[in-house]
Parts: sequence; structure tokens; C-alpha cells
Amino acid sequence: MKKCFIVLAVLFLLPFALVGCTKKEEKLSSYDITLSYDDESKILSGKEEISYINSSDNLLSELHFHLYPNAFRENAKNKVVSLSNRDKAYPNGESFGSIEIDNVQDENGEVAFSVAGEDENILIVPLATGIYPDESVKISITFKVKLANINHRLGYGDNVINFGNFYPIACVYEDGKGFCESLYHSNGDPFYSDAANYQVSVTFSNSFTLASSGEVISQKEENGNKIVSLKLNKARDFAFCLSKKFVIAEKEVKGTKISYYGYEGDNNLSSCIEISKAAVEYFSNTFGEYPYKTLAIVKTNFVHGGMEYPSLVMISDTCQSQEEEDYVIVHEIAHQWWYAVVGNDEYNHAWQDESLAEYSTLMFFENRGDKTNDYQSLIKNATANYKFFVDIYTNVLGEVDTSMDRPLNKFETEPEYVSLTYTKGTIMYHTLREMVGKRKFEKALKNYYEDYKFKNPAPEELIASFSKSTGHNLEGFFTSWLGGTVVVV
Ligand SMILES: [Zn+2]
Repeated sequence: MKKCFIVLAVLFLLPFALVGCTKKEEKLSSYDITLSYDDESKILSGKEEISYINSSDNLLSELHFHLYPNAFRENAKNKVVSLSNRDKAYPNGESFGSIEIDNVQDENGEVAFSVAGEDENILIVPLATGIYPDESVKISITFKVKLANINHRLGYGDNVINFGNFYPIACVYEDGKGFCESLYHSNGDPFYSDAANYQVSVTFSNSFTLASSGEVISQKEENGNKIVSLKLNKARDFAFCLSKKFVIAEKEVKGTKISYYGYEGDNNLSSCIEISKAAVEYFSNTFGEYPYKTLAIVKTNFVHGGMEYPSLVMISDTCQSQEEEDYVIVHEIAHQWWYAVVGNDEYNHAWQDESLAEYSTLMFFENRGDKTNDYQSLIKNATANYKFFVDIYTNVLGEVDTSMDRPLNKFETEPEYVSLTYTKGTIMYHTLREMVGKRKFEKALKNYYEDYKFKNPAPEELIASFSKSTGHNLEGFFTSWLGGTVVVV
């Protein structure tokens, strides 16, 4: 550590040259999705009309879409949960799901689409005429999603049905790389998408209560069904949940309706909605305004602690204490800033949003003066946990790779992924704040948020942004932490 920090101190003192960069204001694609859920067959039928805008610098002759529900197939290459989480994810035995594409049309009629990718995970839609940069094309996709009985982002559990990553969503096109088509992975959130405008209508039995991304535009009842129309602009995804057990607590923060969905009989609704409101207030004040009109915090059947979507977060109903649930709620809400608004390639650079969401959680508890989730104790625990991970791996394997910036499939185990992406990331940002001071650190977060709203900055852009805001060249700092040369003692 000593050697490392001497190097860091030298790098830290180097003057930083500002690099100018002008970005054009991007128009957003839009998704207009009409859905109908049949609870008996556990099938969600959908029709999605996409107005796709080519925001790349290349002529595109086809479009690629992720088919994430196909990761739940029986023969999928990558399991959606690791072996150690199998029993928790499938309490009623293994179960499978999938997505079937019925039909694809463009403005001229039916299109000969294909389902491809390494694991039937990509829908390829050829375009009759290519689309030039800034031009748009309209595509319509009809599909059916079969749900697995699984406590996951997509699937039905004993209490709640989760609809996350359920529809064909356009792959991000990167100039020089093409469409980004990463496979699903049990580690992390293997997703990457551009911000878009959403209009979604969902029909379901009126015995359910809906918790959803977006604000309700209209709702009606017809033949025992509810039909709810929702809208969400500038969002990189859309998700919803259905349950017969939901009870709702609501609060408002600066025109945003915050709703906590718990289960009938829960006696902690007021503390859950209170901490949710406090988190939105703190992050809005510290990083920048929350941009959406609603935020749903949804207790649900979920194998991990929680999951984030724009204006909706899932919180596992297996949290063991209020302290744990509070922590998960705050972490997932922090993702509204780091993932939902400022996006990134979560498959190849998972640390980018996870480390920030995790450290933001600690900042929240520090600001609150929380005694149970105390900042100094959390840092101490993170350091002890990280060192324990390094010791164990060194003793068992003889060596340990502590690099953070790698694709999800390059982490051998879940503990390795968590130790490097969350725990080491927390220590990294704590160290950075100690170095530059709280004022400059928070200014850096504010500027990063403002400059990259609704975009997908690469790691180099995060580093350049932090360097610019703090007035110090932080390339050496980040490179040594991300690359694994820093030794934490
Ligand atoms: Zn997270």
C-alpha cells in the first residue's frame, strides 16, 4: 500500500489539461408497447412499435434487439442464477421461460427476421433500405413471453410476478464496434441500452395491483381486466410487477410521487417509504434532480437483494432485517442516478454504476448520521471483507486477480464479482474522497451526472470528468485501482 500510495500521490499532483468536447443533442428512439398478461398460462403477449433513430455515424442495414427472456430457456448456455443461488431462485423446482417472436413488420409489410446470437439471444431485423445517421425507421414486433416460476427479474414467484427485461430492446450500436450483444450472465446486471421514450399499455386481471415504471396516463376496467396506460420519457428500460398482495404507502418529493409497495400485513411501510423519500431528497440535492415523475419501490420475490430499472426498483422480500432492507432500498434508489440516468455498459464495465451506487449508499447513511448503517463502520467492514477475499483467494489459488474493469463472464465466482465491483469500488471512492476532499468529490459527482445524463459514458469519460471537476489528473488513480495494482491494507 505504501508503494502504491506514493505513486498515487505523484500522479495526483500532476497538472491536468482540460480537453474540450462538444456533444450533439441526441434525439431518442421510442417504444410504444401494448401488453396483455394471462395469469393462467403465465404468458405475456405483446406488440411493440419502435421508432428507431440511428444515433451512430454509420449507415445501418439491419437492427439488432436483445431477447433477454430466452436466457430462461431450459438449454440456455448461461444459467440465470449461479449454482449457489439455485434453491433460492427456484423454491418450487426448476422452471423455464422464453420469448417467441411471432411477427416483424416495417413500413412496407412483413420482414424476414431471424433469431440469432450465441444463445438465441438476438433478434435481427433486416432493413429494406438502410438508415443514415439521424434518420429513423419504424418497426413493429409481435411477441409472446412465457414466464418461468423463478424469483428473478423476469418470472413469477409466490407473491409477485416480475416483468423486467421482458421485451425486445435495441442493442446499443457503438461506432467501430457495431451492435453490443452480450449474453445474459448470472453475475451482475448483464444489460446495456440507450435512453428512449416509452408508452406502455398493459392489460391484466383486476385481481392484481400493478407497480410500474412511468406515470399512469389512463386506466379503465373491462371484462374483469384492468387496462393501464403509462408513459416514461428519457428512460433506458421499462419494468413492472403484478401482485395480489400489494399495499401501498406514498410520499411526494418536489413533484415526484414515491410509492412503496409492500405486502398485506407488513408493519414497516412507514419506515420504508420514509427512507425512500429521504434517499431521493439526498441524492437529488447531492447529485442533481431526479428526472422522473414517479418512483416505485417494490417488495418482491427476488433471489438477490434488489434490482434497478428506471423509476422502479425491486427489493427482495427475503431481507432479514429493517437495517438490511433500508440498505438495499437506498442502494437501488442510488441506481436511478448511476445506471438509469447516467448509463453505462453494465456487462463490460459493471463497476461503473455499481461502485458509485454502493458508495452513494454510504454517503446517504453518513449524511443521515445513521447509527446502525454507520459510515465509518461500513468502510471498516468493506476493507475487512475485501482483505478477507484477497487472503482467501491468495491462499487457495496461490494468486488473486484484483482487476475491476472486466466483463461479467471474466469473474470466476459471485464472491469475486461482489468483492471487486461493490466492495473494492466503495474503498476506491472513499480513498478518492479522502484525497480530493468532500467538496471537490461531490462537485465531480454533480458534473458527471449533469454532463452524461441519458448517455452511456465509457470508463475513460468518467475518469476524464472526475479529473476535470477536481482539477487533478486522476487517470493514474483510477487505472491502478481498476487494473488491480493497488494493494489495500
Ligand atoms: Zn447495484
